[in-house]
Amino acid sequence: MDTTFSKEDLEFQQEVRTFIKENYPQWLRDAIKEKTRTGQEFTKDEVTAWHKILGKHKGWSVPGWSTEYGGPGFTATQKYIFQEEMAKQDTLMVAPFGPVMCAPVIMTFGSAEQKEKFLPRILSGEDFWCQGYSEPNAGSDLASLKTEAVLSEDGTHYIVNGQKTWTTMAQHADWIFCLVRTDPNAAKHDGISFVLIDMASEGVSTKPIELISGASPFCETFFDNVRVPVSNRIHEENKGWSVAKALLLHERTMLAETSRGAGNVQERRSLLQVARDAVEQHEGVIADTSMRNEIAQTQMDTMCYEATLQRTMEAAKAGQGMGPEGSMFKLYLSELNQRKADLRQRMNGANSLIWDGEDFNQEDKEITREWLYGKASTILGGTSEIQLNIISKRVLGLPD
Ligand SMILES: Cc1cc2nc3c(=O)[nH]c(=O)nc-3n(C[C@H](O)[C@H](O)[C@H](O)COP(=O)(O)OP(=O)(O)OC[C@H]3O[C@@H](n4cnc5c(N)ncnc54)[C@H](O)[C@@H]3O)c2cc1C
Repeated sequence: MDTTFSKEDLEFQQEVRTFIKENYPQWLRDAIKEKTRTGQEFTKDEVTAWHKILGKHKGWSVPGWSTEYGGPGFTATQKYIFQEEMAKQDTLMVAPFGPVMCAPVIMTFGSAEQKEKFLPRILSGEDFWCQGYSEPNAGSDLASLKTEAVLSEDGTHYIVNGQKTWTTMAQHADWIFCLVRTDPNAAKHDGISFVLIDMASEGVSTKPIELISGASPFCETFFDNVRVPVSNRIHEENKGWSVAKALLLHERTMLAETSRGAGNVQERRSLLQVARDAVEQHEGVIADTSMRNEIAQTQMDTMCYEATLQRTMEAAKAGQGMGPEGSMFKLYLSELNQRKADLRQRMNGANSLIWDGEDFNQEDKEITREWLYGKASTILGGTSEIQLNIISKRVLGLPD
């Protein structure tokens, strides 16, 4: 995006650029390239290495945190520059579950002890987190969740039983933040609590779910009589829905920002790069006027999205989510990304059918896998239909 930066911002941009160049490990770059091409899963070392490096440097692992909690206290423009530089140098995205989703609700709803216990380890990357919201019969209708937490006789622990699903990277996680039912007799939104569960606890197990793109980054997560200290509950018992909603706002803001963030898997090769290659490889495709119009339109839509996002983030208070308006960004971006992935596929012609095999071009394989993976973006973090419901009720104020 063409943004006019101040002298200080340009210096900061140079600092970030140099830091990434000098510190982003080549072994990680090679591993990601290889695994994107083959659809293999990342190891825990791979998903946490960059987080740990950034955590040792001015709190850069948590660009949205204020200095009060050890974050860098970036301005909106600095955060923008930071994310853009990460994207330009194609670094792996720091997994958001701890830094961007769980930490802000600990800051808002947690006790002093909880902040002290969990936040520094989230910043440093020592603890890797996952999200235990969805269940087999509770996705869009999240408040129907059934995983139960019953208080032990001495009142010190919850005994948790149940199942979560689509738990991204649960196989690597040290901790999971979970919504559990603590009052089965209350109205469904009222009987929920928000608890933090150590994945090493006895009775926690995970089972991988394989995706169409070949990778298996998700798990079903099971809780079988898991003892969770009551001190791991965030906020009051049965008031977990307020925490859950606050976290979802942070999640949607994060999803909106991934348009420019590092690790935007659908953008490893930009539309324009693919178009340029298409001129060389499949001149027929690019000679088609409607295809050229579509490329230009999609590129303009991307720039408009970026500019609107930037304006909105500058208006938002540092460290806070966007509010229900975040749903508009989530909806638009996920659908825009799918359009782009689809367009890249069509520009790539017959090469789009390439899936595997040593003789084929690596980037063609990436485009195909990313196109398939992109199908998930209109589902994760709340489906497009759910975003439309939120926009109509909470942004436009339309009746039920
Ligand atoms: C890549 C990916 C990663 C994920 N990671 C996690 C994770 O780490 N942790 C976690 O807890 N969950 C995770 N999820 C789960 C995700 O949050 C749910 O898939 C999502 O909320 C939809 O729930 P569902 O799959 O049960 O679909 P359903 O809720 O069953 O929806 C099915 C269809 O019905 C439509 N629908 C449902 N209700 C309504 C309504 N009221 N109005 C209009 N249409 C409706 C939906 O839009 C959808 O098209 C992930 C999902 C994906 C795809």
